Amino acid sequence: STPVATFSALTEAMKNGLLFKGGDYLEMLAKIKIVAFDKTGTITRGEFVVTDFQSTRPDVSLNILLYWVSSIESKSSHPMAAVLVDYARANSVDPIPENVTEFQNFPGEGVFGQIDGENIFVGNRRISRRAGCGTVPEEENDARGGSTIGYIYSGMNLVGTFRLADACRSGVADAITELKSLGIRTVMLTGDSHAAAIHAKAQLSNVIEVVHAELLPEDKVRIVKSLKEEGPTAMVGDGINDAPALATADVGISMGISGSALATETGHVTLMSNDIQKIPQAIWLARRTRRTII
Ligand code: ADP
Ligand code: MG
Repeated sequence: STPVATFSALTEAMKNGLLFKGGDYLEMLAKIKIVAFDKTGTITRGEFVVTDFQSTRPDVSLNILLYWVSSIESKSSHPMAAVLVDYARANSVDPIPENVTEFQNFPGEGVFGQIDGENIFVGNRRISRRAGCGTVPEEENDARGGSTIGYIYSGMNLVGTFRLADACRSGVADAITELKSLGIRTVMLTGDSHAAAIHAKAQLSNVIEVVHAELLPEDKVRIVKSLKEEGPTAMVGDGINDAPALATADVGISMGISGSALATETGHVTLMSNDIQKIPQAIWLARRTRRTII
């Protein structure tokens, strides 16, 4: 029993690049009081640039590190992975994914693979525990512009580090300001470090109110659940590691294109254009439609 008003609103939304999986989500969108945003790939472009890549041991060459990392990351769909593969190629090192066995993805942490008899872990400082290394690298301060720091372990030994920089999408600060003017609170949820999260917040002129960092996918779910107790909550994410949080939210909005793939499976609404500014517009449309129905 979809009223004509809902149908025409869904059509209008579609023209604006928002694909709803049903009129119920349009109705729910009208009631949203809190919007939680993923950082990497959602607030930021997820188009990383390698700004630093170093061996931390004299007996481990840069070339072997590039070979290990690129071969293993060839098997990952994370936005960071392709960049690391390209970086190796640009430094004349060809990845050989066929040499990788036992590949494992640890969402929100990094990846693992066996290559030429070595156990290699690549990820954030949390991956040190997967590697069985007793010391977790200390979180670095924001001195180098909030870039994301990666760690490479061979077995239990830290053998290399790298830094990746990412930029915020245009229009995000404006979109968040508009959400505020609609009486909506905003939150950033990220698996990345506190420093990288605070850097992204500053890039948005601090319009986003609350930041939670170093989250695993299940931590995002837990926070979305607790936000829902405060009011109807939407979650905007990029489908990579965010699917559980998107499903938990009252309205899960997924970025239409994550990495290179079209992602319409996750979430209740797909933002085809990846334009965050369409979100306050859609809420405004949903509210108007609700008034028309009532
Ligand atoms: P976000 O919540 O900001 O979207 P993710 O949950 O996708 O971030 O990832 C969190 C962190 O986990 C990344 O910042 C990175 O440090 C690490 N990570 C995840 N996947 C990989 C990977 N394939 N290679 C290296 N690091 C990774
Ligand atoms: Mg993400």
